[in-house]
Amino acid sequence: MGIQDWVPRMPAAGERVRAAVVEDQAAPVDVHPQIPGAPAGTDAPPPRSDEPPAWLEEAPPISDDFVPASDLDPDAESIPRPAQDDVGRLDWPRLEARVADCDACELHRSRTRTVFGSGSREADLMVIGEAPGADEDRKGEPFVGRAGQLLGAMLAAIGLAREQVYIANILKCRPPGNRDPRADEVVKCHAYLQRQVALVRPKVIVAVGAVAARNLLQRDEPVGRLRGQAHQYRGIPLVVSYHPAYLLRSPEQKAKAWMDLQKAARLIR
Ligand code: SF4
Repeated sequence: MGIQDWVPRMPAAGERVRAAVVEDQAAPVDVHPQIPGAPAGTDAPPPRSDEPPAWLEEAPPISDDFVPASDLDPDAESIPRPAQDDVGRLDWPRLEARVADCDACELHRSRTRTVFGSGSREADLMVIGEAPGADEDRKGEPFVGRAGQLLGAMLAAIGLAREQVYIANILKCRPPGNRDPRADEVVKCHAYLQRQVALVRPKVIVAVGAVAARNLLQRDEPVGRLRGQAHQYRGIPLVVSYHPAYLLRSPEQKAKAWMDLQKAARLIR
């Protein structure tokens, strides 16, 4: 099973396009649990207010209660917090420039380029992954290569062009050898992602893969247990799903990923 399995079958105007791979499997429509703030008995997203929520104004660079997913590591407690107190007030150009110049963790030594994020900065849906791989490090864009193609096809299956979505990662620099991000790296990089989320203000976040889900939710549980539950990241509904790179290796999980995407699509409509 390859990337082409996600190509929409019938792009009828006004209709949500379904992915052929799971359509044939007649996957049941997943009913999203009650979203805090939504009318009782519905799965509608909370109403979007023109007034910025309090946390946007406060926008601390790193929330006091943030700990990386590897918080079970006793050394995580001793990780020094970076002096980036003004990140929560940066606009897009200054935030991007700050990331491009960042040397807060050791990954700045081995990166080719920082990978800031891409897509619409007014997106309703934000996808957050793990960290740049080799292709991303070379191009400076998140989710390129085969996993990126699959992500694009998955988004098209819910009627969204990749350019309509904002895509970012937990880390902005590539860990050598594509190893998992370390706790100290996540702590030092989190202010940037937190500010991106505050600036985009998406209606829903889709966290793909264990690293993104565990760090955003600060829960040390596998994706298989976290997906299907109602989560929030700083007041924004968050859907946990599988990383496209994992789906390339485990195509039998695509049906579940499709259910997750359907859930996210319902939250933005
Ligand atoms: S990974 Fe994040 S914290 Fe580390 S150098 Fe890159 S931008 Fe800075």
